[in-house]
Amino acid sequence: MNRPHADRLASYAMRVEQSLGRRYPEPRHPYRNDYERDRDRIIHSRAFRRLENKTQVFSRRYSDHFRNRLTHTLEVAQISRTVARALGLNTDLVEALALVHDVGHPPFGHAGEETLDGLMRPYGDRFDHNLHALRIVESFEQKYVDFPGLNLTFELREGIIKHSRDYDPERHPELREYRLDKQSPLEAQLINVADEIAYNCADLDDGYEAKLLIIAQIRESLPLFDRLYRPFERQRPEALEKLKFNEALKRMMDYLVTDLIRTTRLRLRRAGPRSVEAVRARDSRLVSLSPAASRENQRLKDFLHQNLYSHPTIRAERKKIADSICGLFGYFVEHPRSLPAFYQRKMPREPLHRVVCDYIAGMTDNYLLEQYRKYVKA
Ligand code: MG
Repeated sequence: MNRPHADRLASYAMRVEQSLGRRYPEPRHPYRNDYERDRDRIIHSRAFRRLENKTQVFSRRYSDHFRNRLTHTLEVAQISRTVARALGLNTDLVEALALVHDVGHPPFGHAGEETLDGLMRPYGDRFDHNLHALRIVESFEQKYVDFPGLNLTFELREGIIKHSRDYDPERHPELREYRLDKQSPLEAQLINVADEIAYNCADLDDGYEAKLLIIAQIRESLPLFDRLYRPFERQRPEALEKLKFNEALKRMMDYLVTDLIRTTRLRLRRAGPRSVEAVRARDSRLVSLSPAASRENQRLKDFLHQNLYSHPTIRAERKKIADSICGLFGYFVEHPRSLPAFYQRKMPREPLHRVVCDYIAGMTDNYLLEQYRKYVKA
């Protein structure tokens, strides 16, 4: 029997006993439930370990203590678990979903993603990190003798597809089993907002630490941050600016997370879903920030876009990354025999541009640069 979830679950939480299960049936584990096993499989996967060497915003050459995609993932897991517990959601499922949410990201963050997507378009194709993550857990991970991939439960695969965007069922008939016309369980809805809170706060932190953002500019553009910073400045004028910044940042994250819990709780009370099916049947998502907090969050996002992501230092690096990815993509399309055997075996079944894209998307930052030096720049 499936060991139930230890916390008290609300009526609208996903119960592991109700899971739609795995693609390839497996015997139950004596003391880990299916979502705990999903979590463990993710942690033991190659794609998860590679997150350590994938850029979030700042590549390794800046500093060793900025976020990478692995530490970002842990932050999302921590925030999601906190919110899930407060709302009576399934924390085992939430944790597994958070840990897997970014495994489909290519090297070098959004620069890598945009470049790969741009390279796929002339073929009438796209690169999408959620779809890539699904391919990783369904087939690229090779660990078991009886099946390809990690054989995760339905709810994990559904969450990978649905946590951050809605796919048109007409354009994605291959995703039909995930019932694209229905909402995902609250556990998957939560990941998206927790992800945003995590990266907005973290990017502000790293941007300030990298000295690409300065305190006066942050306070002037972000009234919420300024409001939280002011008392420290008034009461502790002698304290280090960095520590006052930390205090304000910490309170900003707390404000957003608390608002998320309160707002979602209120929306759940009003909507009154008594089961996961009732959550699925709704027109819109139930997990959300209040309008006021959404505005603050959006302001933070816009600020980071205008002042950090488009900063000349970050932009110059992005251009170099894009050139490396384009160079390597072009090389493999012309020399498919240079691809590893695992990818060459896919060639009879899939178009070459897709095979090359999958190979590059799986690379870490280091490996991409190494391959670029080996094949293109040599
Ligand atoms: Mg993320």
